[in-house]
Amino acid sequence: MNVRDSEHLIAELSISENYSLTTDVSEADLIIINTCSVREKPVAKLFSEIGVFAKNKKSNAKIGVCGCTASHLGNEIIRRAPMVDFVLGARNVSKITKVLHQKHAVEIDTNFDDSTYAFGEYRANPLKAMINISMGCDKSCTFCIVPTTRGEEISIPSHLIANEIKKAVENGAKEVMLLGQNVNSYGRRFSENSEVKNFTSLLQTISLIDGLERIRFTSPHPLHMDDDFIREFASNPKICKQIHVPLQSGSSQILKAMKRGYTKEWFLNRCALIRSLAPDATISTDIIVGFPGESDENFEDTMDVLERVRFDQMFSFIYSPRPHTPAAEYKNQINPDISSARLTKLQERHTEILDEIMQAQIDTVHQVYFDELKPNGKVAGRSDDGKLIFVEGSEELLGTIKPVKIIKTSRSLLDGVVIKDNQ
Ligand code: SF4
Repeated sequence: MNVRDSEHLIAELSISENYSLTTDVSEADLIIINTCSVREKPVAKLFSEIGVFAKNKKSNAKIGVCGCTASHLGNEIIRRAPMVDFVLGARNVSKITKVLHQKHAVEIDTNFDDSTYAFGEYRANPLKAMINISMGCDKSCTFCIVPTTRGEEISIPSHLIANEIKKAVENGAKEVMLLGQNVNSYGRRFSENSEVKNFTSLLQTISLIDGLERIRFTSPHPLHMDDDFIREFASNPKICKQIHVPLQSGSSQILKAMKRGYTKEWFLNRCALIRSLAPDATISTDIIVGFPGESDENFEDTMDVLERVRFDQMFSFIYSPRPHTPAAEYKNQINPDISSARLTKLQERHTEILDEIMQAQIDTVHQVYFDELKPNGKVAGRSDDGKLIFVEGSEELLGTIKPVKIIKTSRSLLDGVVIKDNQ
Protein backbone atom coordinates (compact mmCIF):
# COMPACT_ATOMS: atom_id res chain seq x y z
CA MET A 1 0.00 0.00 0.00
CA ASN A 2 2.92 2.33 0.69
CA VAL A 3 4.30 1.68 -2.79
CA ARG A 4 0.96 2.67 -4.31
CA ASP A 5 0.76 5.74 -2.03
CA SER A 6 4.20 6.73 -3.35
CA GLU A 7 2.94 6.40 -6.91
CA HIS A 8 0.01 8.69 -6.03
CA LEU A 9 2.40 11.25 -4.50
CA ILE A 10 4.62 11.15 -7.59
CA ALA A 11 1.59 11.59 -9.87
CA GLU A 12 0.27 14.60 -7.96
CA LEU A 13 3.68 16.25 -7.73
CA SER A 14 4.45 15.82 -11.42
CA ILE A 15 1.02 16.98 -12.63
CA SER A 16 0.42 19.91 -10.26
CA GLU A 17 3.93 20.97 -9.32
CA ASN A 18 6.01 19.93 -12.32
CA TYR A 19 8.39 17.69 -10.37
CA SER A 20 10.14 14.77 -12.04
CA LEU A 21 11.93 11.81 -10.46
CA THR A 22 15.64 11.65 -9.80
CA THR A 23 17.74 8.91 -8.25
CA ASP A 24 20.43 11.42 -7.22
CA VAL A 25 19.75 12.90 -3.76
CA SER A 26 22.14 15.81 -4.32
CA GLU A 27 20.07 16.87 -7.33
CA ALA A 28 16.63 16.64 -5.66
CA ASP A 29 14.50 19.70 -4.81
CA LEU A 30 12.23 17.54 -2.68
CA ILE A 31 12.95 14.34 -0.75
CA ILE A 32 10.00 12.31 0.52
CA ILE A 33 10.47 9.47 2.97
CA ASN A 34 7.41 7.21 2.88
CA THR A 35 7.37 5.27 6.12
CA CYS A 36 6.03 2.05 7.62
CA SER A 37 5.33 1.52 11.31
CA VAL A 38 4.16 -2.08 11.48
CA ARG A 39 7.37 -3.03 13.28
CA GLU A 40 9.70 -1.00 15.46
CA LYS A 41 12.85 -1.20 13.33
CA PRO A 42 11.79 1.02 10.40
CA VAL A 43 10.62 3.69 12.84
CA ALA A 44 14.03 3.76 14.51
CA LYS A 45 15.65 3.99 11.08
CA LEU A 46 13.61 7.04 10.08
CA PHE A 47 15.61 9.57 12.08
CA SER A 48 18.98 8.30 10.90
CA GLU A 49 17.68 8.42 7.29
CA ILE A 50 16.53 12.02 7.78
CA GLY A 51 20.05 12.87 9.00
CA VAL A 52 21.68 11.25 5.97
CA PHE A 53 19.37 13.04 3.53
CA ALA A 54 19.81 16.40 5.32
CA LYS A 55 23.58 16.05 4.98
CA ASN A 56 23.55 15.20 1.30
CA LYS A 57 20.74 17.38 -0.03
CA LYS A 58 20.93 20.73 -1.85
CA SER A 59 20.74 23.63 0.61
CA ASN A 60 17.19 24.67 -0.34
CA ALA A 61 15.78 21.17 -0.92
CA LYS A 62 12.75 20.19 1.16
CA ILE A 63 12.29 16.99 3.15
CA GLY A 64 8.85 15.48 3.76
CA VAL A 65 7.91 12.47 5.91
CA CYS A 66 4.80 10.55 4.82
CA GLY A 67 3.12 7.26 5.67
CA CYS A 68 2.23 5.42 8.86
CA THR A 69 5.08 6.70 11.05
CA ALA A 70 4.11 10.22 10.01
CA SER A 71 0.56 9.43 11.18
CA HIS A 72 1.56 8.14 14.58
CA LEU A 73 4.45 10.49 15.45
CA GLY A 74 3.06 13.67 13.82
CA ASN A 75 4.57 16.84 15.35
CA GLU A 76 7.12 14.75 17.22
CA ILE A 77 8.98 14.26 13.93
CA ILE A 78 9.47 18.00 13.46
CA ARG A 79 10.38 18.45 17.12
CA ARG A 80 13.10 15.80 16.86
CA ALA A 81 14.17 16.70 13.32
CA PRO A 82 13.40 20.40 12.56
CA MET A 83 15.01 20.03 9.13
CA VAL A 84 11.84 18.15 8.09
CA ASP A 85 9.58 20.56 6.16
CA PHE A 86 6.28 18.69 6.38
CA VAL A 87 4.61 15.58 7.80
CA LEU A 88 1.83 13.88 5.84
CA GLY A 89 -0.09 10.93 7.31
CA ALA A 90 -0.94 7.76 5.41
CA ARG A 91 -4.59 8.79 5.14
CA ASN A 92 -3.81 12.25 3.69
CA VAL A 93 -2.01 11.49 0.43
CA SER A 94 -4.18 13.85 -1.63
CA LYS A 95 -3.02 16.80 0.52
CA ILE A 96 0.57 16.58 -0.76
CA THR A 97 0.36 19.75 -2.87
CA LYS A 98 -1.05 21.63 0.15
CA VAL A 99 1.61 20.68 2.71
CA LEU A 100 4.40 21.29 0.21
CA HIS A 101 3.85 25.05 0.52
CA GLN A 102 3.44 25.33 4.29
CA LYS A 103 6.60 25.25 6.38
CA HIS A 104 6.29 22.59 9.10
CA ALA A 105 2.78 21.57 8.03
CA VAL A 106 1.48 18.45 9.78
CA GLU A 107 -1.54 16.69 8.23
CA ILE A 108 -2.29 13.43 10.00
CA ASP A 109 -6.09 13.26 10.22
CA THR A 110 -6.90 9.52 10.24
CA ASN A 111 -10.57 10.15 9.39
CA PHE A 112 -9.79 12.19 6.30
CA ASP A 113 -11.64 10.73 3.33
CA ASP A 114 -9.44 10.13 0.29
CA SER A 115 -11.72 7.33 -0.95
CA THR A 116 -13.26 9.20 -3.90
CA TYR A 117 -10.19 11.22 -4.76
CA ALA A 118 -9.01 10.58 -8.32
CA PHE A 119 -5.23 10.65 -8.31
CA GLY A 120 -3.17 11.40 -11.40
CA GLU A 121 -1.82 8.47 -13.38
CA TYR A 122 1.69 7.25 -12.55
CA ARG A 123 2.87 3.68 -12.38
CA ALA A 124 6.46 2.56 -11.90
CA ASN A 125 5.60 -0.47 -14.04
CA PRO A 126 2.62 0.08 -16.38
CA LEU A 127 2.41 -3.66 -17.14
CA LYS A 128 0.98 -4.49 -13.71
CA ALA A 129 -1.20 -2.06 -11.85
CA MET A 130 -1.81 -1.74 -8.13
CA ILE A 131 -5.38 -0.61 -7.50
CA ASN A 132 -6.60 0.55 -4.08
CA ILE A 133 -10.06 -0.78 -3.25
CA SER A 134 -10.25 0.30 0.38
CA MET A 135 -8.29 2.13 3.03
CA GLY A 136 -8.03 1.87 6.79
CA CYS A 137 -9.11 -1.02 8.98
CA ASP A 138 -12.02 -1.53 11.37
CA LYS A 139 -10.47 -4.53 13.11
CA SER A 140 -8.70 -4.23 16.42
CA CYS A 141 -6.02 -6.91 16.40
CA THR A 142 -4.24 -6.25 19.67
CA PHE A 143 -0.73 -6.20 18.15
CA CYS A 144 -1.46 -3.90 15.22
CA ILE A 145 -0.91 -0.17 14.88
CA VAL A 146 -2.58 0.12 11.45
CA PRO A 147 -6.07 1.19 12.65
CA THR A 148 -4.33 4.05 14.50
CA THR A 149 -2.25 5.14 11.53
CA ARG A 150 -4.65 4.52 8.64
CA GLY A 151 -7.98 5.15 10.38
CA GLU A 152 -11.42 3.61 9.92
CA GLU A 153 -12.10 1.33 7.00
CA ILE A 154 -13.69 2.92 3.95
CA SER A 155 -14.21 1.31 0.55
CA ILE A 156 -13.71 3.00 -2.80
CA PRO A 157 -16.91 2.99 -4.92
CA SER A 158 -16.85 0.22 -7.53
CA HIS A 159 -17.28 2.53 -10.56
CA LEU A 160 -14.08 4.41 -9.57
CA ILE A 161 -12.20 1.11 -9.20
CA ALA A 162 -13.48 -0.09 -12.59
CA ASN A 163 -12.49 3.22 -14.24
CA GLU A 164 -9.01 3.02 -12.79
CA ILE A 165 -8.58 -0.55 -13.99
CA LYS A 166 -9.79 0.34 -17.49
CA LYS A 167 -7.29 3.21 -17.62
CA ALA A 168 -4.49 0.89 -16.48
CA VAL A 169 -5.46 -1.71 -19.12
CA GLU A 170 -5.45 0.99 -21.84
CA ASN A 171 -1.92 1.89 -20.70
CA GLY A 172 -0.68 -1.69 -21.06
CA ALA A 173 -1.55 -3.55 -17.86
CA LYS A 174 -2.84 -7.11 -18.24
CA GLU A 175 -2.65 -7.71 -14.51
CA VAL A 176 -3.97 -5.83 -11.49
CA MET A 177 -3.27 -6.19 -7.79
CA LEU A 178 -6.25 -5.08 -5.70
CA LEU A 179 -5.05 -3.49 -2.46
CA GLY A 180 -6.64 -3.04 0.93
CA GLN A 181 -5.88 -3.77 4.56
CA ASN A 182 -8.78 -6.20 4.49
CA VAL A 183 -9.80 -6.67 0.86
CA ASN A 184 -12.53 -9.20 1.54
CA SER A 185 -14.42 -6.92 3.90
CA TYR A 186 -14.90 -4.62 0.89
CA GLY A 187 -18.22 -2.74 1.12
CA ARG A 188 -18.23 -2.21 4.84
CA ARG A 189 -18.57 1.57 4.46
CA PHE A 190 -18.67 3.99 1.50
CA SER A 191 -18.70 7.77 1.45
CA GLU A 192 -20.73 7.78 -1.76
CA ASN A 193 -22.95 5.27 -3.50
CA SER A 194 -21.39 2.12 -4.95
CA GLU A 195 -23.15 -0.38 -7.20
CA VAL A 196 -21.09 -3.31 -5.92
CA LYS A 197 -21.17 -3.90 -2.19
CA ASN A 198 -19.05 -6.96 -1.41
CA PHE A 199 -15.69 -8.36 -2.46
CA THR A 200 -16.92 -11.46 -4.26
CA SER A 201 -19.23 -9.31 -6.43
CA LEU A 202 -16.38 -6.86 -7.03
CA LEU A 203 -14.20 -9.71 -8.32
CA GLN A 204 -17.03 -10.85 -10.62
CA THR A 205 -17.60 -7.32 -11.92
CA ILE A 206 -14.02 -6.41 -12.67
CA SER A 207 -13.28 -9.73 -14.30
CA LEU A 208 -15.67 -8.62 -17.08
CA ILE A 209 -13.26 -5.82 -18.08
CA ASP A 210 -11.93 -6.47 -21.59
CA GLY A 211 -8.16 -6.78 -21.85
CA LEU A 212 -7.72 -7.52 -18.15
CA GLU A 213 -6.32 -11.04 -17.91
CA ARG A 214 -5.12 -11.47 -14.35
CA ILE A 215 -6.43 -10.35 -10.97
CA ARG A 216 -4.48 -10.61 -7.73
CA PHE A 217 -5.38 -9.15 -4.35
CA THR A 218 -3.85 -8.58 -0.94
CA SER A 219 -4.61 -9.03 1.90
CA PRO A 220 -7.75 -11.02 2.55
CA HIS A 221 -8.67 -11.78 6.17
CA PRO A 222 -9.26 -15.46 7.10
CA LEU A 223 -12.40 -14.47 9.04
CA HIS A 224 -14.13 -13.18 5.89
CA MET A 225 -13.19 -16.15 3.68
CA ASP A 226 -16.72 -17.47 3.28
CA ASP A 227 -17.56 -20.34 0.92
CA ASP A 228 -18.81 -17.98 -1.82
CA PHE A 229 -15.52 -16.10 -1.81
CA ILE A 230 -13.40 -19.28 -1.96
CA ARG A 231 -15.61 -20.72 -4.74
CA GLU A 232 -15.18 -17.51 -6.76
CA PHE A 233 -11.42 -17.57 -6.16
CA ALA A 234 -11.23 -21.18 -7.36
CA SER A 235 -13.52 -20.96 -10.38
CA ASN A 236 -12.88 -17.52 -11.89
CA PRO A 237 -10.18 -18.03 -14.55
CA LYS A 238 -9.01 -14.42 -14.31
CA ILE A 239 -8.21 -14.70 -10.61
CA CYS A 240 -4.61 -15.82 -10.13
CA LYS A 241 -4.34 -18.94 -8.03
CA GLN A 242 -2.25 -17.37 -5.31
CA ILE A 243 -3.78 -16.43 -2.00
CA HIS A 244 -2.42 -14.84 1.15
CA VAL A 245 -4.03 -16.25 4.29
CA PRO A 246 -2.48 -14.45 7.27
CA LEU A 247 -2.37 -16.93 10.14
CA GLN A 248 -0.49 -14.85 12.78
CA SER A 249 -0.69 -17.75 15.28
CA GLY A 250 -1.75 -21.39 15.09
CA SER A 251 -3.05 -21.36 18.66
CA SER A 252 -6.76 -20.59 19.20
CA GLN A 253 -5.86 -19.25 22.63
CA ILE A 254 -3.33 -16.78 21.21
CA LEU A 255 -5.65 -15.89 18.32
CA LYS A 256 -8.21 -14.93 20.93
CA ALA A 257 -5.67 -12.77 22.78
CA MET A 258 -4.79 -11.20 19.42
CA LYS A 259 -8.54 -10.59 18.75
CA ARG A 260 -8.24 -12.14 15.30
CA GLY A 261 -11.81 -13.42 15.31
CA TYR A 262 -11.09 -17.00 14.11
CA THR A 263 -9.74 -20.22 15.57
CA LYS A 264 -7.07 -22.68 14.47
CA GLU A 265 -9.87 -25.02 13.26
CA TRP A 266 -11.51 -22.30 11.14
CA PHE A 267 -8.15 -21.41 9.57
CA LEU A 268 -7.38 -25.06 8.73
CA ASN A 269 -10.90 -25.54 7.39
CA ARG A 270 -10.55 -22.52 5.05
CA CYS A 271 -7.16 -23.71 3.76
CA ALA A 272 -8.57 -27.22 3.21
CA LEU A 273 -11.44 -25.78 1.16
CA ILE A 274 -8.99 -23.71 -0.92
CA ARG A 275 -6.84 -26.82 -1.52
CA SER A 276 -9.85 -28.96 -2.46
CA LEU A 277 -11.41 -26.43 -4.88
CA ALA A 278 -8.12 -25.01 -6.24
CA PRO A 279 -5.49 -27.74 -5.83
CA ASP A 280 -2.86 -25.78 -7.78
CA ALA A 281 -3.22 -22.61 -5.72
CA THR A 282 -0.31 -21.40 -3.63
CA ILE A 283 -0.99 -20.23 -0.09
CA SER A 284 1.21 -17.70 1.67
CA THR A 285 0.95 -16.44 5.24
CA ASP A 286 2.18 -14.11 7.98
CA ILE A 287 3.22 -15.50 11.36
CA ILE A 288 4.12 -13.73 14.60
CA VAL A 289 6.04 -15.70 17.23
CA GLY A 290 6.52 -14.67 20.85
CA PHE A 291 3.18 -12.87 21.20
CA PRO A 292 2.62 -12.08 24.91
CA GLY A 293 1.62 -15.23 26.80
CA GLU A 294 2.64 -17.65 24.01
CA SER A 295 3.53 -20.95 25.70
CA ASP A 296 5.56 -23.80 24.16
CA GLU A 297 2.27 -25.57 23.55
CA ASN A 298 0.79 -22.53 21.79
CA PHE A 299 3.87 -22.31 19.60
CA GLU A 300 3.59 -26.02 18.74
CA ASP A 301 0.08 -25.25 17.41
CA THR A 302 1.70 -22.82 14.97
CA MET A 303 4.19 -25.54 13.95
CA ASP A 304 1.26 -27.92 13.50
CA VAL A 305 -0.53 -25.52 11.11
CA LEU A 306 2.72 -25.14 9.15
CA GLU A 307 2.94 -28.94 8.79
CA ARG A 308 -0.65 -29.26 7.69
CA VAL A 309 -0.90 -26.34 5.26
CA ARG A 310 2.72 -26.35 4.01
CA PHE A 311 2.71 -22.67 3.08
CA ASP A 312 4.33 -21.79 -0.23
CA GLN A 313 5.57 -18.53 1.26
CA MET A 314 5.81 -17.41 4.86
CA PHE A 315 6.54 -13.97 6.31
CA SER A 316 7.50 -14.58 9.93
CA PHE A 317 8.51 -12.18 12.65
CA ILE A 318 9.13 -11.92 16.36
CA TYR A 319 6.32 -9.99 18.03
CA SER A 320 7.18 -6.27 18.11
CA PRO A 321 5.32 -4.17 20.73
CA ARG A 322 3.84 -1.11 19.05
CA PRO A 323 2.59 2.09 20.68
CA HIS A 324 -1.20 2.58 20.90
CA THR A 325 -1.79 -1.20 20.92
CA PRO A 326 -3.26 -3.24 23.82
CA ALA A 327 -0.73 -6.08 23.51
CA ALA A 328 2.17 -3.72 24.20
CA GLU A 329 0.71 -3.27 27.71
CA TYR A 330 0.29 -7.00 28.41
CA LYS A 331 2.38 -8.09 31.38
CA ASN A 332 3.23 -11.55 30.01
CA GLN A 333 5.78 -10.48 27.37
CA ILE A 334 8.02 -13.29 26.13
CA ASN A 335 11.75 -13.48 26.76
CA PRO A 336 13.49 -12.41 23.49
CA ASP A 337 15.76 -15.52 23.55
CA ILE A 338 12.71 -17.80 23.61
CA SER A 339 11.05 -15.86 20.78
CA SER A 340 14.23 -15.96 18.78
CA ALA A 341 14.60 -19.75 19.21
CA ARG A 342 10.97 -20.24 18.14
CA LEU A 343 11.45 -18.10 15.05
CA THR A 344 14.55 -20.09 14.08
CA LYS A 345 12.71 -23.41 14.51
CA LEU A 346 9.74 -22.18 12.47
CA GLN A 347 11.87 -20.77 9.68
CA GLU A 348 14.15 -23.81 9.48
CA ARG A 349 11.19 -26.14 9.09
CA HIS A 350 9.61 -23.85 6.52
CA THR A 351 12.85 -23.77 4.55
CA GLU A 352 12.77 -27.59 4.35
CA ILE A 353 9.17 -27.51 3.15
CA LEU A 354 9.99 -24.80 0.62
CA ASP A 355 12.94 -26.77 -0.76
CA GLU A 356 10.61 -29.73 -1.39
CA ILE A 357 7.97 -27.49 -3.02
CA MET A 358 10.48 -25.76 -5.29
CA GLN A 359 12.31 -29.00 -6.22
CA ALA A 360 9.02 -30.45 -7.41
CA GLN A 361 8.76 -27.58 -9.92
CA ILE A 362 11.40 -29.06 -12.26
CA ASP A 363 9.88 -29.81 -15.70
CA THR A 364 6.51 -28.28 -14.77
CA VAL A 365 5.00 -25.74 -17.17
CA HIS A 366 3.61 -22.37 -16.05
CA GLN A 367 1.85 -19.57 -17.88
CA VAL A 368 4.15 -16.61 -17.16
CA TYR A 369 3.29 -12.94 -17.52
CA PHE A 370 6.57 -11.16 -18.27
CA ASP A 371 6.82 -7.72 -16.74
CA GLU A 372 10.46 -6.86 -16.09
CA LEU A 373 13.70 -6.75 -18.03
CA LYS A 374 16.72 -7.57 -15.88
CA PRO A 375 20.20 -6.07 -16.47
CA ASN A 376 21.69 -9.59 -16.82
CA GLY A 377 19.79 -10.20 -20.07
CA LYS A 378 16.98 -12.12 -18.41
CA VAL A 379 13.30 -11.35 -18.39
CA ALA A 380 11.28 -11.86 -15.22
CA GLY A 381 7.64 -12.67 -14.76
CA ARG A 382 5.16 -14.35 -12.48
CA SER A 383 3.31 -17.58 -12.95
CA ASP A 384 -0.43 -17.65 -12.31
CA ASP A 385 0.32 -19.03 -8.83
CA GLY A 386 2.73 -16.18 -8.10
CA LYS A 387 6.15 -17.81 -8.60
CA LEU A 388 8.95 -15.55 -9.78
CA ILE A 389 10.38 -17.03 -12.98
CA PHE A 390 13.32 -15.92 -15.14
CA VAL A 391 14.03 -16.77 -18.78
CA GLU A 392 16.71 -15.70 -21.27
CA GLY A 393 15.09 -13.19 -23.58
CA SER A 394 14.58 -9.63 -24.67
CA GLU A 395 12.04 -6.85 -24.30
CA GLU A 396 9.82 -8.48 -26.92
CA LEU A 397 8.61 -10.76 -24.14
CA LEU A 398 7.45 -7.86 -21.94
CA GLY A 399 3.68 -7.69 -21.59
CA THR A 400 3.15 -11.19 -23.00
CA ILE A 401 1.91 -14.38 -21.30
CA LYS A 402 3.86 -17.47 -22.43
CA PRO A 403 4.18 -21.10 -21.37
CA VAL A 404 7.49 -21.68 -19.59
CA LYS A 405 9.09 -24.98 -18.65
CA ILE A 406 11.09 -24.91 -15.40
CA ILE A 407 14.70 -26.08 -15.77
CA LYS A 408 16.34 -24.87 -12.55
CA THR A 409 15.09 -24.09 -9.06
CA SER A 410 16.22 -22.23 -5.98
CA ARG A 411 14.42 -21.32 -2.76
CA SER A 412 12.76 -18.14 -3.99
CA LEU A 413 12.88 -18.19 -7.77
CA LEU A 414 12.84 -20.44 -10.80
CA ASP A 415 14.66 -20.46 -14.15
CA GLY A 416 12.83 -21.66 -17.22
CA VAL A 417 12.62 -21.67 -21.00
CA VAL A 418 9.74 -20.43 -23.11
CA ILE A 419 8.17 -23.35 -24.98
CA LYS A 420 5.60 -23.65 -27.73
CA ASP A 421 2.05 -24.30 -26.50
CA ASN A 422 2.08 -27.99 -27.54
CA GLN A 423 5.59 -28.86 -26.23
S1 SF4 B 1 -6.85 -6.87 10.25
FE1 SF4 B 1 -5.70 -6.72 12.14
S2 SF4 B 1 -3.55 -7.01 11.47
FE2 SF4 B 1 -4.74 -6.48 9.64
S3 SF4 B 1 -4.54 -4.23 9.48
FE3 SF4 B 1 -6.44 -4.66 10.60
S4 SF4 B 1 -5.88 -4.55 12.76
FE4 SF4 B 1 -3.99 -4.77 11.58
